[in-house]
Amino acid sequence: MDTLIAALAALHIITAPLAPIASYTAVHSCEFTANKRIALTFDADMTAGMEKLLETHEVTSWYNRDLIHYLNRHQIPATLFLTGMWAETYPKEARALARNPLFEIANHSYSHPGFAHPCYGLEYVNEAQKRYELYHSKAVLKAITGIDTTLFRFPGGCQAAMDVELVRSMGLTPVGWTIVSGDAFAGDTASIVQNVLSQAHDGGIVVAHMNAGPNAPKTAEAIKELVPILRSEGFIFVKVSELLPIDDLLACRE
Ligand SMILES: [Zn+2]
Repeated sequence: MDTLIAALAALHIITAPLAPIASYTAVHSCEFTANKRIALTFDADMTAGMEKLLETHEVTSWYNRDLIHYLNRHQIPATLFLTGMWAETYPKEARALARNPLFEIANHSYSHPGFAHPCYGLEYVNEAQKRYELYHSKAVLKAITGIDTTLFRFPGGCQAAMDVELVRSMGLTPVGWTIVSGDAFAGDTASIVQNVLSQAHDGGIVVAHMNAGPNAPKTAEAIKELVPILRSEGFIFVKVSELLPIDDLLACRE
């Protein structure tokens, strides 16, 4: 081998030490060759029905303060997909989250309708309403948080054939997930922990919720268990935008 290198060097094919390999390299849409990275994402849903439950005091809060407090305390970056209606309900909190460099604010529509039918019982919206959902959520989130959102997650992950182009035409990039936490309506913390651990992978995007209440009652407990385990397995937490080249985000959807 030394002889070969000497011969190549003599031919000036090797003129300098080999450059170090980049810290990570995308091999295909959702995988990287080094550094186990994982993005925690939390959706802040809000529908007219959820608002009603607040008004009637059947639900006291749709904001999981315990979860955010934990992420803050342990300096865990996360991407937060806010609906416009959630930000209108919690403007002070939305602003504080946007000011916190730990968090990335993303868009989850205005009122959380289904862009396809059926979609987990969500109300279906037509094309004009879809445009309004995208335009209005962007405007509301900008007005409240100061952030012009660029990442978008379809409510329920439901989308029709032309919706991706529509979303892109509004200056938004659709983002899905690769790891389903199953925290929605789950009363069992252990099952959420197991769901994530069994699917955890390098370049993964975990979908969970920051609503608490009856819709996601065990998310904080599960995350508190998951974070130390994932760290012990060598994962580092990143924001979605740090995880992948922006054009690949859509591909990382089940
Ligand atoms: Zn949602």
